[in-house]
Amino acid sequence: MATKDTHSGIDGRRFWSTVMRSGDIGPGKAGGLCRLALTDADKEMRDLFITWCTEVGCTVQVDRVGNIFARRPGAEDHLPPVLMGSHLDTQFAGGKYDGIVGVLAGLEVLRTLDDRRLRTKRPLELVCWTNEEGARFTPPMVASGAFAGVFPVDWVLALRDDDGKVFGSELERIGYNGKTAVGGRGIDAYFELHIEQGPILDKEAVPVGIVVGGYATRGMHVDILGETAHAGPTPMNRRRNALVGAAMLAVAVNDIGWKYHATEGKATVARLVAWPNKAGILSEYAQLTCDVRHAEKPVAEQMLAEVKAAIPDCARRANVEMRMASEWQFGNETFDPGCVRLIREAAQRLGVPHRDILSQAGHDAYYVSRIAPTAMIFTPCRDGISHNEAEHAEEDYTVPGVNVLLEAVLARANR
Ligand SMILES: [Zn+2]
Repeated sequence: MATKDTHSGIDGRRFWSTVMRSGDIGPGKAGGLCRLALTDADKEMRDLFITWCTEVGCTVQVDRVGNIFARRPGAEDHLPPVLMGSHLDTQFAGGKYDGIVGVLAGLEVLRTLDDRRLRTKRPLELVCWTNEEGARFTPPMVASGAFAGVFPVDWVLALRDDDGKVFGSELERIGYNGKTAVGGRGIDAYFELHIEQGPILDKEAVPVGIVVGGYATRGMHVDILGETAHAGPTPMNRRRNALVGAAMLAVAVNDIGWKYHATEGKATVARLVAWPNKAGILSEYAQLTCDVRHAEKPVAEQMLAEVKAAIPDCARRANVEMRMASEWQFGNETFDPGCVRLIREAAQRLGVPHRDILSQAGHDAYYVSRIAPTAMIFTPCRDGISHNEAEHAEEDYTVPGVNVLLEAVLARANR
């Protein structure tokens, strides 16, 4: 019998029961998870994650923005580590798999190496990035961004959630205000496994997507400034209702998405806050969070330009002022050809069906790719449903990707 692989691979049962155990922590309302960053549920998950990591002999360090690094020494331990990981926080109505399978796939890799008593040449590290989702503290991916030097640490620590709670204080409250400096050290390579969050792999019944790039994404917060006034007697021509201005802009952004629908462009208004946002009074302030995405960077730039061009018109019609509060972008990053090749070779060697794919979501890997050779592996999720409690992944369709991760990481760490 010709064997494609002399190793037995990871322990799929153990891996999946670990994913299911995580799925007990921070339950949502409809069978999924609501495990927001820096909440008690996040702390419970982090504590358990650290227990699992120390059980396989890792030392654990937490940096100043709460990123957790579990380190497995290498035979040549002075060399920069090969890093694996993703995130354990979820959306408000999140699934049990988004981010989580990536972190726990890395854990399963460490457990497998521990079983085999196998020492890699380079050290391995498994990371859980803080607040990837940006659900509680926006923008998303702040902690991997800080690690990559994109966001200043103090700026991240000062972010506030909707209740005014401060990122740094909440980190301290759950005991994850670590002492380790954020980033600023050598990383040999970073591998992130993640569910696709789109329908392609599931539809084609292909278990492994080799992520060759991402949709160019341009996001922004727009502040809308109006004036409070009585909802009754104030004549229409004297109204400066920030909520209305924001609503007009929301429609304009959505229309831009439709305009580019034929080429898979997307424009999203994900969030609108208004103040005082009460009955009987016009709002003097609103903020809109939106982004545009396209596979082709120049088209994404064009979409962004169209959003910006819509702003003065919406502001005029609503008689309010609009200004850009902040902007961000990701998805221009190209993943490292060498790391991508290792993933492809691993899939071929293991006989795992695979295809190249673009990521349409944001991932910590984007920011990390700015400072270290990086690649991503996608695994299927049913119907592409994600950021929904109905998100679902199957053990049988996920395990092949974890085996590919194991092989790629071993090849990189032993070279
Ligand atoms: Zn994710």
